[in-house]
Amino acid sequence: MRCSDCVFCKISSGKIISEFIHESKTCFAIRDINPIASTHVLIIPRIHIPHLEFINHYPNFDFNDMYSVAVEIARRENVINSGYRLVINQKEDSGQEVEHLHLHLIGGNKLKVMG
Ligand code: AMP
Ligand code: ZN
Repeated sequence: MRCSDCVFCKISSGKIISEFIHESKTCFAIRDINPIASTHVLIIPRIHIPHLEFINHYPNFDFNDMYSVAVEIARRENVINSGYRLVINQKEDSGQEVEHLHLHLIGGNKLKVMG
């Protein structure tokens, strides 16, 4: 998927309007359009990284920042103590829809135990 076809790049550049609930140097966060729990936020790098395996191609991308943003949002959404799940889907078997790296932050409900 090229950047020009990518919904998250379009949101990042303002071509598609979406409410940014948080912004950092490297990422922005929006509410998932199709939430699976009462809190379902997407933390999205500003740069188009198609898949996790390409992370080394972006040595200047501060991967830790994505997790710092996640913790900040978990605090603001009041799930920091009740708990939450962070998910990165990758490729077909995971059901990945948008090929632009992003972290799902899901919480606010009892989540089904994995495995
Ligand atoms: P994934 O399956 O991990 O690629 O997740 C992509 C997520 O993006 C899905 O949960 C979609 O509901 C969500 N999504 C797609 N388009 C939008 C949009 N315009 N605004 C907010 N969330 C979106
Ligand atoms: Zn993109």
